[in-house]
Amino acid sequence: MTLAGKVAVVTGGGSGIGRACSLRLAREGAAVAAWDLNAEGAAETARQIEAAGGRALALAGDAADAEQIAAMAERTRRELGPVAILVNNAGITGFTPFLELSREAILRMLEVNVVGPFLCTQALLPDMLAAGWGRIINISSSSAQTGARLMTHYSASKGAIIAFTKSLALELADKGITVNNIPPGFIDTPMLRASPVDIAAQSAVSPMKRPGRPEDIAAACAFLASEEAGYITGQTLGVNGGRVMP
Ligand code: NAP
Repeated sequence: MTLAGKVAVVTGGGSGIGRACSLRLAREGAAVAAWDLNAEGAAETARQIEAAGGRALALAGDAADAEQIAAMAERTRRELGPVAILVNNAGITGFTPFLELSREAILRMLEVNVVGPFLCTQALLPDMLAAGWGRIINISSSSAQTGARLMTHYSASKGAIIAFTKSLALELADKGITVNNIPPGFIDTPMLRASPVDIAAQSAVSPMKRPGRPEDIAAACAFLASEEAGYITGQTLGVNGGRVMP
């Protein structure tokens, strides 16, 4: 087990990609705190990790709210220990014609998808600096690479995450901490199923003729979290079944 003794935080760990990353990091030996707005989803993730013999903590809260982040960080440290791995995965999406976007919708998108990762990273980075070792994995989106119709606020927020990844990677490069991002594309999760995307039609035109699985993202996440990925930083590791080749 490559991550034995490490503590990981996965935001949005109660559903879809975040749950798959939580389960996979736990399988590699990490103790995992799943932070999610959805208390029941986070609890279910923790139950599944514990049932498989791992250590887990479910925390309900908003990963874009500074006070709630501070409280979740404190409980994570107290119950599991200092945090070595952060997966900034919590995110929201939206499909709205550009001229109909309200200021509130734009700001909430940026708050959850951009400010949240900044604040979570600021809250947990001191643990990694103290240890001289850390892994930050940001979940962006292939929509930032290709553009996406009716998703200007979403794709712009994910483009910010790719730029955030590069700049923070440079700032932390000589401190034993890597920062990378995974832009998923077309992954079968509750978010995709709730969206207006026609999954059958998209599958038909995709190279692999199917959507990706949350476990496909989790595999890349576990690799980027591993010791072996220590010379990889500032990178964008596409997991999209060949739909996007930048
Ligand atoms: P999902 O199934 O909707 O899971 C996201 C989880 O995050 C939900 O449990 C959600 O809770 C939670 N969450 C949302 N806002 C939060 C906040 N402020 N604080 C804490 N938790 C919050 O979505 P997913 O498809 O797994 O997506 C995970 C990430 O991958 C997102 O960043 C998404 O943008 C990105 N992504 C997904 C795809 C795809 O094809 N699925 C493609 C590109 C990028 P609630 O349900 O209570 O809101």
